[in-house]
Amino acid sequence: MSATRGQGGLDDGMVNANWAQAAATAILAVIGLWIAHNYRRQVGLKLVERRIDAYMGLWAILAAASPGRTSPLDRVERQKVRDEMNRWYFDDGNGILMSTPARDLWIAVASNLTCPVASLRPAALAAELASLAEADADRRRGCVCISQASLLRHQMKADLSLHKGLYYRPELGTADRDFLRGCGISPWRRPWRPPGWRARTRASRLSATGASGARLCVCGGCQPAALPPGPHAT
Ligand SMILES: [Zn+2]
Repeated sequence: MSATRGQGGLDDGMVNANWAQAAATAILAVIGLWIAHNYRRQVGLKLVERRIDAYMGLWAILAAASPGRTSPLDRVERQKVRDEMNRWYFDDGNGILMSTPARDLWIAVASNLTCPVASLRPAALAAELASLAEADADRRRGCVCISQASLLRHQMKADLSLHKGLYYRPELGTADRDFLRGCGISPWRRPWRPPGWRARTRASRLSATGASGARLCVCGGCQPAALPPGPHAT
């Protein structure tokens, strides 16, 4: 009888020890996860700080393609912006601080500034410009480059979780969507999908008062559906 009781006590002790070991393992696992999460958070915060500095430099360069312009970017201006974008990319490792969609947009925007017409993105734009007289194609290109730079700026703001800008137009135009798709970006996902009713209401109110500052086409060749500068011009 006493031997049985002794065996039972031994089993209970082993069970308790196993539970204690399992609990200790679980606690250590939770602590490990917390440390890993905290480390990733710290790394993320440092990345955001550095990204802000990097993006500020690119923002200043893209001021040359401001939606407030009253004329298209000419060839000299496009070349200058591209040279400055290239220099920015390699200065201080700025390029590696970009998000993947921002980098993809950066590549397309920079390329479209000076690449051969046949290489323009989207392909529909290349085909359209190829059918125009050289001077007209140049003006149209200088206008579209401004709107594409606006899309890049919008992505930069989204990366930093900053304001979305004014909703100049409730939805992306066909050309904007084609350009995004050409960069491997879905126009139906954040931050590109259509804004909610509140933003639409705000946009229509600003538009009605003339306070939106919407940039009109400055080349005379953009179709309304393809008008820049996308949903949130900057
Ligand atoms: Zn235009």
